[in-house]
Amino acid sequence: MAENGQAYLALYRKYRPQTFEDVRGRDAIVRTLKNQILSERIGHSYLFCGTRGTGKTTIAKIYARAVNCENPRDGSPCGECASCRAIAADASLNVVEMDAASNNSVDDIRGIIDAVSYSPTQGRFRVYIIDEVHMLSTAAFNALLKTLEEPPSYAIFILATTEPNKLPVTILSRCQRYDFGRLPVEVIRDRLREVAESEKLQIEDRALRYIAGAADGSMRDGLSLLDQCCAFNYGIDVLTYDRTLEILGAVDASVFSRLFRHLHEGEIAGGLQVLEDILTQGRELVQFITDYIVYLRNMMLLKASPALRDKMDLSGDDLDRLTEDAAVAELSEIMREIRIFSALIDQIRYSENRRILTEMALIRAANGRMDDGAGDTGEDLLESLTNRIRELEQRLLADERKLADRAGNVAFVAPAETQAAALPAGDASAQAGRQEQKPVLPTAVPEDVRDIVRNWKQYIGQLPAGLTRVSLLNADLSLGEEGQLVIVFNNYVTADHFLHDERYRKRLEAWLAARSGKRVRIEYKALDKGQKFTDNYVDLRDVIRMDIDVE
Ligand SMILES: [Zn+2]
Repeated sequence: MAENGQAYLALYRKYRPQTFEDVRGRDAIVRTLKNQILSERIGHSYLFCGTRGTGKTTIAKIYARAVNCENPRDGSPCGECASCRAIAADASLNVVEMDAASNNSVDDIRGIIDAVSYSPTQGRFRVYIIDEVHMLSTAAFNALLKTLEEPPSYAIFILATTEPNKLPVTILSRCQRYDFGRLPVEVIRDRLREVAESEKLQIEDRALRYIAGAADGSMRDGLSLLDQCCAFNYGIDVLTYDRTLEILGAVDASVFSRLFRHLHEGEIAGGLQVLEDILTQGRELVQFITDYIVYLRNMMLLKASPALRDKMDLSGDDLDRLTEDAAVAELSEIMREIRIFSALIDQIRYSENRRILTEMALIRAANGRMDDGAGDTGEDLLESLTNRIRELEQRLLADERKLADRAGNVAFVAPAETQAAALPAGDASAQAGRQEQKPVLPTAVPEDVRDIVRNWKQYIGQLPAGLTRVSLLNADLSLGEEGQLVIVFNNYVTADHFLHDERYRKRLEAWLAARSGKRVRIEYKALDKGQKFTDNYVDLRDVIRMDIDVE
């Protein structure tokens, strides 16, 4: 329906706020900016930080119109004067928008900066909005910095970024910073309701709430999901909660309770039947598991602190059910399930055998409950944990041997005591000589590796939510002697599957190649307990930061 006849305007575009009064959930930021306009104390450089769809560019555009408006109303643009109209029609030279993700070279920035030297022929301010500013090259940052240091009186820079941590300190220190956090569910829901009313869309309140929750703090995502649901529901009177779940491939929350009870009771057949139902209904399995993890998380929070009940974003029925489930469960049991299903998510994303893997996880979850629940004493549990730890220690030791045997491994130096115990006498002396050696970079850092390290958060951040993403985001980065990117985990147990399953390496290499267009070899390592990353490896992030500072 979007393509035929008149161009269909997406809801998030159609309802993009045009004045500060239309903006929802950003009261503090809006008040500060309006005050600056009312008191004529307008800054020259602003930094708007926050995840996508949270209003950075929208507010930047309103501000750009407001500072140039001939008759601002309480700090908001009037929308009617020549300046407001020209900017709205994209016919004004006073507002320049640039997306640094696609224009990040020094020439792109020079283009802007050269224009800064001409004062505006009409209107008061030239406003430069640079989106995704962290994507600028080092040379481009340096060029921009010169202008930010001595901006002409009529120039305003609004830099927007999802990753402020990637900006040089020199830029950060020049800007007034505003943080755009995720929007609360209620704010998104209320806005969706307003939009639904003015579009004359009939939508159940529970459906709106579900969509708002699924938007995960982004107003733009919320409006897009609403768009999607209404498009699929076209010609039908009311968009119901059930229909919404169907369209978004989600399931009714009572299913989660049913599944949880089966697993809790150790009823494997019942748990597998829930899975069967989900698949028969054609639901998306990854989505289902993700939602079940959210259900468990809410239960965990409720169990940890009943006071959180009021903060749960759930409707009455769902909350009652969750409270009942939490009452029968142990905290350790809930956490154990979260671990099992988080690991499952990582596995099934890439797997053809989704169903079998899910069945295995269900059986494990149900069995575990029977094992350490029924008639279990504290000692038994302790013993099984001790065995598990022993097993891991042995594997760790074996790995250390392997690593120590590998000749010329500059990056790896084992701590003195474990080493003496773990190594045959002959090797210990050879190793001792290496021990004092400070870690050094084996070779120059290849440009491809640099690029990946610089954009690490971005590339890894795009991985599906789960343990893999968290582990990789928390890992340290170094360089191997053959120019490979070495990913170092600070916790052996977390790193377990990365180190022992070759597929994890191949997948990440493919993932990074798909995002960066660069093929880089990677290697996984883990720190031993008590080892410090910087004592054993060169911190590649530091090296690359140093380069930027020097340039
Ligand atoms: Zn105006």
